[in-house]
Amino acid sequence: MDRGLQDLRARLAEITDLNHAASVLSWDQMTYMPPGGAEARARQTAMLQRLAHEKATDPALGRLLDSLRPLENKLGYDSDDASLIRVARRNYDIVTKVPIEFAARMFLLQAESYEAWARARPKNDFKGVYPYLEKVMAYSREYSEFFPGYGHVMDPLISNFDYGVKARTIRKVFRELRAELVPLVRKIRDAEQVDDSCLHGKFPTDLQAKFNRLVAERMGYDFQRGRIDETPHPFTTNFSIGDVRITTRYHEDYLGAALFSTIHETGHALYEQGPDPALEGLLGTGAGMGIHESQSRLWENQVGRSMEFWKYFYPALRKAFPEKYKGVRLPDFYRAINRVEPSLIRVAADEVTYNLHIMIRFDLECALMEGKLSVKELPEAWNDRYLSDLGVSSKTYADGVMQDVHWFSAYIGYFQSYALGNLLSAQLYDAALKAKPAIRSEIATGKFSTLLGWLRKNVHRHGLKFTTDELLERCGVGGIEVGPFMDYLRKKYKGVYGL
Ligand code: ZN
Repeated sequence: MDRGLQDLRARLAEITDLNHAASVLSWDQMTYMPPGGAEARARQTAMLQRLAHEKATDPALGRLLDSLRPLENKLGYDSDDASLIRVARRNYDIVTKVPIEFAARMFLLQAESYEAWARARPKNDFKGVYPYLEKVMAYSREYSEFFPGYGHVMDPLISNFDYGVKARTIRKVFRELRAELVPLVRKIRDAEQVDDSCLHGKFPTDLQAKFNRLVAERMGYDFQRGRIDETPHPFTTNFSIGDVRITTRYHEDYLGAALFSTIHETGHALYEQGPDPALEGLLGTGAGMGIHESQSRLWENQVGRSMEFWKYFYPALRKAFPEKYKGVRLPDFYRAINRVEPSLIRVAADEVTYNLHIMIRFDLECALMEGKLSVKELPEAWNDRYLSDLGVSSKTYADGVMQDVHWFSAYIGYFQSYALGNLLSAQLYDAALKAKPAIRSEIATGKFSTLLGWLRKNVHRHGLKFTTDELLERCGVGGIEVGPFMDYLRKKYKGVYGL
């Protein structure tokens, strides 16, 4: 192997190992660490992040990447090695454009702002977060200035989560989506409501855990390379392709919470268990957050809330909770898990209204960043949009503008990826069904390997090699589109609500 390439692989492996070590500490912090560990843990994590940052911005790495240009040009664009050089250079260019002094200030603000939010939210105290949010916006604008020549001030921020995706594209897609979604939500609201009482009652955690484990395992989640733990906010994390963990949260009185969050996180985890082992430790996982979310949403909604999925799993669910489901027919259960209800809280939203929550956030975020909206005016603008788009309004900040952690952790340019994930889940599932028409009937018999195989071959195995657009192109999907998602919703909810 080329000496320079060998050197590059060694450097990238070190950076990845430091980042993964920090992830282990963070996973432990969220799951099992006693409160007394917090102070030392913050210090240890910061130290690992600092070391990784130093290695990622080492000028010697920049010189090495320059010297590898001829090799990169010689190799084909698709080759693992050329992709390694290309993606490493892209990352290097981004991190070195941001002065280290600014990165340190931003890191501190993230921590302070998050703490302020965690303190203020239970007290419904918007004043307590106001100065931090103003700073977050100012810093984010400053961040974009390190990338002169951008089309929209949001573009450099969006690129941190969905590389190459532009605010202009998202706005166009969202305009179209909103125009179609708002009338559908109204129609559903006017229809006869669905009874979901069969999802409420008493569901002992251990029985739920056993059933969820069965579902994750059948979907293809490899427990030899993963595990499920419990946290208030479910997430997926990986320390290597051989160790991809998920968490879930149990509500003893509501079956839907743990069940669908487990399916969702399993969708993320299948992606992270799926890259080609040759990319291990070098190119990581996930083309972008939008693609990542498309995987979790595909499994959670397109598959996990489908009739065929429950044709297979309903008998096992009945066995797990015989008293509860003795008298509940499958079609009634199916309607219950697909109930639509416009609500205030994004994370509890159904698949029809979910994107409206995201578009509200994205539009307000753009207005804040453009200076067209002040942080002071934000709560009122928030409420106006909830009233016009969803027909609901919140009496508290906690259930309104303060409900999500993202802005208060200085994650600007993140929210769109949730909606992109929903749209792409429909586009990718359509592509899979076109290539393998038997997928649906197989799911009804508990066979998920054809679907997973298609995702592995077309999405998972590439890891970070390709950008969102490049990956979609390769899947035969083209660009981000509203049509397939809306077709899916209209067809499905026509049945569920008799529209
Ligand atoms: Zn997710």
